[in-house]
Parts: sequence; structure tokens; C-alpha cells
Amino acid sequence: MTGKSLLILTASEEISLLLQKAAVKNGFVPFLLTSGLGLISSFDNIKPDLMILDLDLEVGDIDGVELLNHFGKAQCKIPIMLLSAGDHKILFSLNYIALEKKLNIIANMIYPFSAEEFEYKLSLTKHNLSVIDVEDLASAIENKHFILHYQPKIEIKTKKWIGVEVLIRWQPPGQRIIMPDDFISLAEESGLILPMTIWVIKQSFEDLLRFQSENLNLKIAVNLSSKLLSDIGFPDEVLRLAKEMNLNPEQICFEVTESATSKQPENVLEVLLRLRLKGFSLSIDDFGTGYSSLVELQRLPFNEMKIDKSFIMGIESTEMNQSIVKAILYLGHTLGLTLVAEGVENVEALSLLTELNCDVAQGYLISPALPIDELRKWHKKNIADDFTWKPFESV
Ligand code: C2E
Ligand code: CA
Ligand code: CA
Repeated sequence: MTGKSLLILTASEEISLLLQKAAVKNGFVPFLLTSGLGLISSFDNIKPDLMILDLDLEVGDIDGVELLNHFGKAQCKIPIMLLSAGDHKILFSLNYIALEKKLNIIANMIYPFSAEEFEYKLSLTKHNLSVIDVEDLASAIENKHFILHYQPKIEIKTKKWIGVEVLIRWQPPGQRIIMPDDFISLAEESGLILPMTIWVIKQSFEDLLRFQSENLNLKIAVNLSSKLLSDIGFPDEVLRLAKEMNLNPEQICFEVTESATSKQPENVLEVLLRLRLKGFSLSIDDFGTGYSSLVELQRLPFNEMKIDKSFIMGIESTEMNQSIVKAILYLGHTLGLTLVAEGVENVEALSLLTELNCDVAQGYLISPALPIDELRKWHKKNIADDFTWKPFESV
């Protein structure tokens, strides 16, 4: 753990001295910034292992909310300790905002505190500061230390089991599973996303063959990073892999997030079109969280739209979400797309989605994502002979 870098953002000299001293004593390499604007502009070159953010920034600088918004938008996963010399309530609210933005907050600290108190907090964080680096990820790819989980989808009208979404997990030998949100952005930044995705595609194609041999007529949906959408040769490679295994591209769908397509990397339209022309299906993922224009939606060759789970979770009790989902269903159906709701967690949500004429459901109510052996058990217990889903029985 020695030598991990610790970024300290504070406008207070007193706090800065205390933190720096304790950090060095604990084997961190601290570096100091005094302004939030300075941090944002230089952040891409810094990439610390841990950050301490004093949210009482100077007047004229950005404020704490703007700072957290920035890291939220950048999907920053670096562990963060929040600090304030203000009152507890403000720190509590800021912590709440940070959590909503899925930031990795590991501690909240109200100043004044002693050097000893801070060192204690720091020593606690050292244990869960498992910083993933590119070499670990590269060796995981080389040694295939990944597993795939499959999350079932059902057609709402018929309740039939129609397919699964493929979700990757990293399983370092003898250690806990690492979830994709903790390593996909690193894979994207380092260029390892291509070999990783090729592994996901090969493995899920093999599993699809296995499903077929067990008379399971399922579609699989594989997630594609926006980084792959600028690689014009990617569709050929995928088709080659499908042909090699004698798979029909119609059984394979690729999910691409709405934000990936609205960022419009070079070639994105060509790559998506080439995938469609080769017979694969395309789904626009996390719909409602990006900024697609109607023109883009019309132009991009999607077959399916997945309503982001943030609108579906709790839909039964939130009128605003019901209105948003209704509008998305109307828009999607008008464009001729199949509409999928993800994040369906209870019976009330499913019956509401049935009333609203949504096409497909995915979520913890039906099943969480499962390794293939567990998926077989779920199938035996929860799917009838005619392939309809039997609710209320869990694995
Ligand atoms: P996603 O594509 O939006 O996948 C759905 C996520 O929601 C999954 O998280 C799934 O386990 C979770 N989920 C499903 N049903 C429910 C529910 O009812 N309630 C709640 N609260 N959550 C639910 P997971 O597996 O952690 O995946 C996170 C993200 O990582 C995925 O979001 C996807 O963007 C990315 N990802 C996963 N596998 C791959 C991959 O092979 N390649 C790429 N590029 N990205 C991947
Ligand atoms: Ca997805
Ligand atoms: Ca999604």
C-alpha cells in the first residue's frame, strides 16, 4: 500500500498541514490543491488513489455541489473522504448528493478533529482501498479471471421467458467478486475494453450454443462500450465469431447506452448500421439518462429501447416516474421499437407496466443476474413447460 497517492483539496492552511503530515506518516504520497476549479482542470493528469475534498471552498471558486456534480458526471470511482468545517447538516446533504451520483464516499469528517482521529480514519480506509490498476486488469484478461452472469427477461403480455442480458463480473482467484461498475471505465480508458468484450462475446456465444442444445430458445443481449463504436471492423469480427459457432445473428442483441450514441464518436452510425445489416439486433440502453435528440433516435438503427431502471424502481408510488415512463413508451412505440423496462423489483411495478403496454420486463422481481448453474436452477423452479414464468417462487 506504500506510495498510494492522496489528493487533498482544501483552502485552509491549517487543515492542509494536519492532513499532509498524517498522510505521509501513513505511507501516502499527498499532493495539495487549494481550489476546486484547479482540481477540475488538472484532474485528468492526476488520477489519485484517494481524495479528501474539503467542501468549504473559497468564494469565487466553484462550490461543493458543483464539484460533486463534476465527479458524478465523470463517473469517478476514486474513493473520496468528504470534509467540512461547517455544520453537520450541510455535510450530510452533500454526502447524500454524492451518493445519488454514485460517488465512492468512504468517510465524512467534520473539522476540527485531531491528527490522531484523522490517522485512525485513514488507517481504516487503507484496508478497503483496493485500487485496481491496469496491470491487474490486463492479467485478468489474459488469465480469463472473469465470469458471466445472466439476467432473465420476460415478455410482459405472455409472461414467456424470451432472453437474458449478459453481465460480466471479475473474479480474482480467492478474492471477492468485482462488479463491472468498478472496472469498465478503467477497461475503456486503457484500451482493454476490446479484448475484454471479445472474451464476453465468445463466452456468451458458447453459452448460447449450450442453451440451444438444452432446447432453450433464448436471445442474448451483450453490452457494448461506446469505445467500440468507432471501430469500423468490429461488426466483421463479431459476425465471424457467430458464423464460426453456427449461430444466427438474430439471436444476438447488442446494448449500447443512450449517452454512448449521443456522444457520437466517429463512425458510430456506420458501426451500428453494419451490425444491423449483418442481422444482429440493437438496443438503446439506459434510455432517459442521455440526451438523444429525436432526429438521432429516428436515424439510429435500433430495434429496442430499455427504459433506465431509475424510472422503473419505485414507479408504483411515484407519479412523476409514471408520466415519464408513459411518455417514453409512447415515443418508443411510435418509432416502432420494442420497449424493455429494467429494474422491475415488485409485483405492483410489473402490473403497472402491463397496464401501460410495456413489452418486456427485467429486474430483481423476475430474477437477479445469475451464474449459468444458478440460471438452470431458476429455470427449473420458475419456468413452466410452456416457457411461462411462474412468479413468487425463488431459487
Ligand atoms: P446495465 O447494462 O444497465 O445493466 C443492468 C444493471 O442493473 C446490472 O448491474 C443489473 O444487475 C442491475 N439490475 C438488474 N435488475 C435490477 C433491479 O431490479 N434493481 C436494481 N437495483 N438493479 C438491477 P451490473 O451487473 O452491476 O452491471 C452494471 C453495468 O455494467 C451494466 O449496466 C453495464 O453498463 C455494465 N456492464 C456489465 N457487463 C458489461 C460488459 O460485458 N461490457 C460492458 N461494456 N459493460 C458491461
Ligand atoms: Ca445493459
Ligand atoms: Ca441499463
